[in-house]
Amino acid sequence: MAAVTLKNVVKRFGGFEIIHGANIDVDDGEFVVFVGPSGCGKSTLLRMIAGLEDISGGEIAIGGKLVNDVEPADRGIAMVFQSYALYPHMSVEQNLSFGLRMNGNPKADTERRVKRASEILRIAELMKRRPRQLSGGQRQRVAIGRAIVREPQVFLFDEPLSNLDAELRVQMRVEISRLHKELGVTMIYVTHDQTEAMTLADRIVVLNAGNIEQIGAPLDLYDNPANRFVAGFVGSPKMNFIAAKVVGNDDVAVTIELANHCDAKLRKPLSGAPPAVGSEVVLGVRPEHFFEAGEGDCDIAVKADVAEHLGSVSYVYASAGTNANAGPEELIIEREASRQRANGDHMVVSIKAGRLLLFDKSGARIR
Ligand code: ATP
Repeated sequence: MAAVTLKNVVKRFGGFEIIHGANIDVDDGEFVVFVGPSGCGKSTLLRMIAGLEDISGGEIAIGGKLVNDVEPADRGIAMVFQSYALYPHMSVEQNLSFGLRMNGNPKADTERRVKRASEILRIAELMKRRPRQLSGGQRQRVAIGRAIVREPQVFLFDEPLSNLDAELRVQMRVEISRLHKELGVTMIYVTHDQTEAMTLADRIVVLNAGNIEQIGAPLDLYDNPANRFVAGFVGSPKMNFIAAKVVGNDDVAVTIELANHCDAKLRKPLSGAPPAVGSEVVLGVRPEHFFEAGEGDCDIAVKADVAEHLGSVSYVYASAGTNANAGPEELIIEREASRQRANGDHMVVSIKAGRLLLFDKSGARIR
């Protein structure tokens, strides 16, 4: 087992910097997920930890040992790829044992490790098959098995479930969680899927355009995002953003007027310096934080365009747009499960000052 530390890690391709000084401390035995939109640099970060990509600046340590110049094979890591990377002409058993055999590992020890991996992953009955005779989920298990037999200090996963269908992804997600509990080793996992990040991680690193936006436990990021990017990225359906303006402030609260809702005002208690009167702000409201008319601090009228009924809850896709300057506003509102169709009917919902976040125009959170 080993901690992984990144200090001021920079990556340039040609003259172009794509990782701008990353600082991350992954604890021994921790499950950390790097998440962010396509192209934000998460795979590059993982590949630098693996040693498959040079670093342009900074330091990477694994188990307290600086590995900047250590070959991938000597870093005590094993990586699982999205593409499985299995040898098609070898059986599952041969795929699992190949790396160890090449390294001259003693035969009895290789057999022990392969047997253990096959038991952990419950693939013992597949050992004689070739990869083409396996389902996608079974192939991914074998790919993970190849990492397990190396008995690494750190597992690195690069979008391992992207090629699987939705149902299998959920199943494998649970398997990977189980594997982490069983092995207790450090795991670093890259995905663009925030649900995968939320369900797997002890802590999530949210990346955006080569910068770390926030590092935290899943529910801390959900409840307490540092900025609008994290607020919008974590959570499904996404947080709603409502244009607003500060129309008053005193020592304890700001008064905010919603741009698209005539006369909709609310007071939000704030600590610290309040934003100036006249400044434009954005309210962040989670879909589950809309209440019945009259129940909150401020009622807003919207037009219900489409309703999705998921059984346990319904999501209403609504629009508002009385103020041409503020632009149209699309809202996702969670309701109790119903079968009611939405046909452009008007509805009134209510928001609570204590259940919304406030961002300035740049997207920074106003405390
Ligand atoms: P995705 O989810 O799409 O895989 P990602 O967050 O993993 O994206 P990376 O693959 O790390 O992103 O790429 C980050 C940036 O670095 C992208 O802009 C990409 O085009 C660029 N990049 C990656 N590899 C190279 C390379 N070998 N040469 C030049 N640019 C590269």
